[in-house]
Amino acid sequence: CGIFGIYNNSDAASLSYYGLHALQHRGQEAAGIAACDTGGEINCYKGKGLLAEVFNNEIIATLPGRHAIGHVRYSTADANQIENVQPIMVRSHTASFAVAHNGQIVNAPELRHELEKRGSIFQGVSDSELLAHMIQVEEGSFEECIVKACRRFEGAFAFVILTNKAIYAVRDKNGLRPVSIAKLPEGGYCVSSETCAYDIVAGEYVRDLKAGEIVKIDDEGIHSYQYTDDTQYKMCAMEYIYFARPDSTIDGINVHTARRLSGRALAKREDTEADIVIGVPDSSTSAAIGFAEEIGLPYEIGLIKNRYVGRTFIQPTQKQRERGVRMKLSAVSSIVKGKRVFMIDDSIVRGTTSKRIVQLLKEAGATEVHVRICSAPLISPCFYGVDTSTYDELISARLTHDELCEFIGADSLRFMEVDEMGESFGTKNLCTACFDGQYCTKLFSYGEILESE
Ligand code: 5GP
Ligand code: SF4
Ligand code: MG
Repeated sequence: CGIFGIYNNSDAASLSYYGLHALQHRGQEAAGIAACDTGGEINCYKGKGLLAEVFNNEIIATLPGRHAIGHVRYSTADANQIENVQPIMVRSHTASFAVAHNGQIVNAPELRHELEKRGSIFQGVSDSELLAHMIQVEEGSFEECIVKACRRFEGAFAFVILTNKAIYAVRDKNGLRPVSIAKLPEGGYCVSSETCAYDIVAGEYVRDLKAGEIVKIDDEGIHSYQYTDDTQYKMCAMEYIYFARPDSTIDGINVHTARRLSGRALAKREDTEADIVIGVPDSSTSAAIGFAEEIGLPYEIGLIKNRYVGRTFIQPTQKQRERGVRMKLSAVSSIVKGKRVFMIDDSIVRGTTSKRIVQLLKEAGATEVHVRICSAPLISPCFYGVDTSTYDELISARLTHDELCEFIGADSLRFMEVDEMGESFGTKNLCTACFDGQYCTKLFSYGEILESE
């Protein structure tokens, strides 16, 4: 998912629309914006679909006020119901606020059960709604309630919260999901999952949130609270590999640069000969450029992407995904015909993309297709909000390397090593749990703790 917020701008809702538009790659199933003025009522509008399908100028005009938050949704698990579309609104006698969230709280079922026993009534299953209820049952100032609620959460989260006095941004104690702050030219602020959203609203990047930090932005400026000092940085490796936009910078590392360096690192160990290097647009373009640079072969546009198909992985069912890949990519025969091709992709999850592309390239006349993946094999599910789902769906967890190479029909196949990913990006502070099974939080299955570290 993508989260965005604006504090103190006369066009808060429409700036949120533009900001969210730059985050659309993070979620395409639903979108919403909540806005208000200082001391005023919060209005919220949300719906299913792309941002441009949900909003138009007339709807934006129904969201007046100088402060706003917004969300683009990518539903993990099974819950693409309207009740889960965010922001979640809370109107009560104690506080009115709106919440939007990215990530996944692994002990959500336990906490939900506890709250239901105490009388809370849930509409949907989103973690934003859980935070909203947790805030409500805690005692103290609004900040204290957020602090107490966050201390109970295990897992990955970045929240934005809108009240009629301030906006808040929160980042979990492992720093698993990105969220940062920027300054607007007229003096307000914005917060965003990714820095790519700042360009479009002329925001000037200030800093990333710290792990375990709660930032409050109000008329006095930025206030910082730590909800815990028991922190570490475990930024999701998948953000760099696939999820984030290449022009975003996360915790000081530009995503395009990280991908390019990973392509270079992969090429350093190459011993196969080929004629050209091609990437699978768009997510592996940066890595393919790096690979070509290092190996000294031409980087070619061997695959063309139809711009009007969304992210195939992000489609919830396998059938939709397969159709998506077919609609999305075509091989360029004049480029690949008679050539031995290095085909660079960012990752193999279910194998749908690689298998189809190898087939396309061969049909277009490529004599050999050597698949090179700029990440390690995915062998473990993500419990932190990226839908690489279950062991069964992860093809690298089921097949041996040779079986996988045969399944996708490649002449050869090579991945990166787990350690090589962080080394090439220039950071040691990565979550790589889906590649090595080393989860940085306790894992829960309703009622019991499965694993802990
Ligand atoms: P596959 O087709 O093997 O199931 O998925 C691999 C393709 O989906 C890659 O081309 C990659 O760009 C994209 N993808 C890989 N990993 C992820 C992920 O964790 N989340 C999402 N949303 N997409 C991914
Ligand atoms: Fe990211 Fe994988 Fe960690 Fe999930 S398990 S947060 S996808 S690195
Ligand atoms: Mg891809």
